[in-house]
Amino acid sequence: MTPTHDRTSNQMMKQWRGLGVSPGIGIGWIVRMSARGERVFRFRLNPSQVEHEVKRLTEAIDKTRQQLLQIKSKLEQTLGSAHAYILDAHLLMLEDRQLVEEIRTLIRYELVNAEWAVKTVTDRILASYAEIKDEYLCERGSDVRDVMDRLTAMLRGDHPPQGLPQQTILVAQHILPSIMAELDVESVVGLVAQAGGRTSHAAIIARSLGIPAVVGIDQYEEIEAGAAAIIDGQSGLLILHPTDETVRQYQHRQTERERLWSFMQARAQLPAQTCDGIRITLRANIELPSECNMLAHYSAQGIGLFRTQYLFLSRAADELPSEEEQFNVYRQLAQACGTDGVGIRTFDWAETGVAQSGRELEINPALGLRAIRFSLQARDVFRTQLRAILRAACYGSVRVVLPLVSTITELRQARQILQQAAQELTAEGVAHQDNVPIGVMIEVPAAVMIADVLAAESDFFSLGTNDLIQYLLAVDRDNTQVAYLYKALHPALLRAIKQTVDAATHANIPVEVCGEMASDPLHALVLIGLGVRSLSMAPKFIPFIKDIIRCVDAATLQQTVKRALNLSSTEQVEALLHEEWHPFMQMWSEQTPSEWAQIEQA
Ligand code: PEP
Ligand code: MG
Repeated sequence: MTPTHDRTSNQMMKQWRGLGVSPGIGIGWIVRMSARGERVFRFRLNPSQVEHEVKRLTEAIDKTRQQLLQIKSKLEQTLGSAHAYILDAHLLMLEDRQLVEEIRTLIRYELVNAEWAVKTVTDRILASYAEIKDEYLCERGSDVRDVMDRLTAMLRGDHPPQGLPQQTILVAQHILPSIMAELDVESVVGLVAQAGGRTSHAAIIARSLGIPAVVGIDQYEEIEAGAAAIIDGQSGLLILHPTDETVRQYQHRQTERERLWSFMQARAQLPAQTCDGIRITLRANIELPSECNMLAHYSAQGIGLFRTQYLFLSRAADELPSEEEQFNVYRQLAQACGTDGVGIRTFDWAETGVAQSGRELEINPALGLRAIRFSLQARDVFRTQLRAILRAACYGSVRVVLPLVSTITELRQARQILQQAAQELTAEGVAHQDNVPIGVMIEVPAAVMIADVLAAESDFFSLGTNDLIQYLLAVDRDNTQVAYLYKALHPALLRAIKQTVDAATHANIPVEVCGEMASDPLHALVLIGLGVRSLSMAPKFIPFIKDIIRCVDAATLQQTVKRALNLSSTEQVEALLHEEWHPFMQMWSEQTPSEWAQIEQA
């Protein structure tokens, strides 16, 4: 189906530019998500769908009532009838004719889906309670929210983003990583948000899933549900009510792009070797275990980074994955990677929306109790994870990657807990590997400064440039307002990477870059020029990066980067790279597949 110019709405085409954080073109229709991030979507109904929607509401109310009656009888059995009366208030609310009629009216006359109508009525009731400032009514307010949330969950069958219309362009204030993991990928062709940055985890997952995404659209509130739209995740453009001609132009670009991707894809088996014979290892970053199916497809040499915190998504706050569950996932990855190996990064909760196991909310979570700091405090959680990793290591080559290390003590303590976990498994007679390599992520300036100290006791380095840029330049990676300062080519970062690579080379340990820099063609060349020989990225980008690697000379890259290291500003570095590499990059990116193949052969 092709969105055509929205003639019925008589709307003029308009466009907004934000920050493109996941490339690609999406052509579809807008679906809005509620601003509070409660995962309530707003669809625009066709008049012919209205009665079906009203029926869906009636059925959901019925089922919710059944559910409440069951809970009530269970409560009566366990706590006695004195406590079960609370449920009566909820049941009464569902039977309140006026309230139900108000929801039906919204569906019929505003043409909105039932979930949105429920949310609108709930918001209205809560707002009027809040105005009265009465403690008793405040309590009643939480009853209203409770019963309405239950009804909404029933309406959406507890799979919020499932069942989205085909060719959905999802609009929200903030797209949480948990939402990304639950998305019905087949239906979503684009994501638009006000908040976020290129290295936010939602953007990282969008890139892995190949969904175009644009953030920094401040006018997101003005975007109507149901509007035809185009999103260009490369240039950061959102076009509303496109004309037929604009749709045709973008469809053409989409086809060209797909042709280029399949061309690159077909050559993914070729080696990643520079013209002067330097081999570069290209690995995959993955967030979801299902992504390991892509390894062979994109010719990844194993997994550089598995972000294990995604095992927590869609779970209750205090529900942690058991050792057995983790073991099964890690074993699957170890088997899929064989001797190429998998780097399993221990838990790193960096964002809201990921289960926080009952932790208090922090004012500044990026500098708070996350990653290795959390693991060393929640020892049981850490030990369980390490036991699962050691067991999985029987099925392939597994490495333990420690995030956010800033002191040598953290590395030593982690190693000690790993050894204890191995001893426990031995005592219990459980099959495992004792000698699993353990390495640190270099993603905090302090780790760069003591890279020599860490290298002496680390089996490898994994350079996390996403966080390193954030902490080195003091720029929140999720904040669109300061995104202009988030620069991978800042001389401070280049020097930090050089210092890290030198320390690793001196200690004779490998260093791999697993931040998003690795998947950007220009940045990947800079990294090779800085001496990095292993890059890990979303699998989809591997064929592209391989292709560019096959066209360059590592020695030449090194010479240019050496000059860049002596420059004093990002602008100067950019100008130098532009002068030296622009004609080549231009040629590389603009060739059609067949022309490109000829140039490469020449
Ligand atoms: C990084 O910081 O570069 C990294 C790879 O880790 P994450 O993006 O998960 O913080
Ligand atoms: Mg990080």
